Amino acid sequence: MKVRPVILIHGGAGNYKRFAAEDLEKRRVWLKKAAAEGFDALSSKSALDAVEVAVKVMEDSGVFNAGLGSVLSLNKKVEMDAAIMDGRDLGVGAVACISGFKNPVSIARRIMEETDHILIVGKAAERLAEFFGFKRYGNLITEAKLKRFERVYNDWIEGKRSRMLKIRKMILERKGLFDFTGTVGAVAIDSEGNVASAVSTGGYWLKLPGRVGDVPLVGCGFYADNNGGAASATGIGELIARLTLSKFCCDLMRAGVSAQKACEAAIDLITNKFGKGNAGIIAVDDKGNWGFAFNTAGMGRALMASGMDEPAVAIFDEEPFPTLS
Ligand code: ASP
Repeated sequence: MKVRPVILIHGGAGNYKRFAAEDLEKRRVWLKKAAAEGFDALSSKSALDAVEVAVKVMEDSGVFNAGLGSVLSLNKKVEMDAAIMDGRDLGVGAVACISGFKNPVSIARRIMEETDHILIVGKAAERLAEFFGFKRYGNLITEAKLKRFERVYNDWIEGKRSRMLKIRKMILERKGLFDFTGTVGAVAIDSEGNVASAVSTGGYWLKLPGRVGDVPLVGCGFYADNNGGAASATGIGELIARLTLSKFCCDLMRAGVSAQKACEAAIDLITNKFGKGNAGIIAVDDKGNWGFAFNTAGMGRALMASGMDEPAVAIFDEEPFPTLS
């Protein structure tokens, strides 16, 4: 074995302080399950399989803002973005603005493996997914989501939220919220030293229809290169993308900076440019070290590496979580 296999996943960075205890607990349970299943795939298969499996578990949970749990855009529809990247050959597959499917990350993988493209969007991506044999899934818009939509929409329109002010102004002037906790992502390294990254999201509450965030953009929400490492970011996509945050993190690792220090540098960069409360990132470097950092109240995360009995899980900064330097 050349490298100690590791999988590190996130369930989104954001304001977890406002979550009820049972919601936090649900997330911990699913993070643990996703890391455990991803790690199983890592033992028998590759880093690429591991990140796909882990993200699929989280998409299926209905608990995170990805797959079944995806939040609603301003038109009360679900529009999801997802991507996967293979550090062996820089293979990339991504989808943007798709609806009606449970596992966008797996559609992204098929695009990587079976087309000559890296990103397919909207209805064309949905048709391609059907062509690949993915089943349409009709139940992405639930009563609970519609109820929550009304709440966040009203708060936002009444001026109780500080984000998306241009769009709010636009709506108030009759020319036509922001909550981003729960996107999911995974990075892994297998015993051969291959790294991979995957990410999947419903975006955020009340985003404009057609909006695409950092998640399906190479180097923004994700990046993976065996020569350096893999990273997966979460937070306000419009800010992450401006800094190509995942590529920034991977470039540092390629220059010999550890995964932990590279994540800290990435979060320092976004904090210095745009302030706090907007992002988190996870990474593994090509030596099998892991790292994470966030400038939000919390970031759901789970780690499993060979030699550990079970995945370590945490949400807040002050919780114990295996950390390297
Ligand atoms: N980055 C995602 C987006 O902007 C949201 C998130 O990470 O929670 O679409």
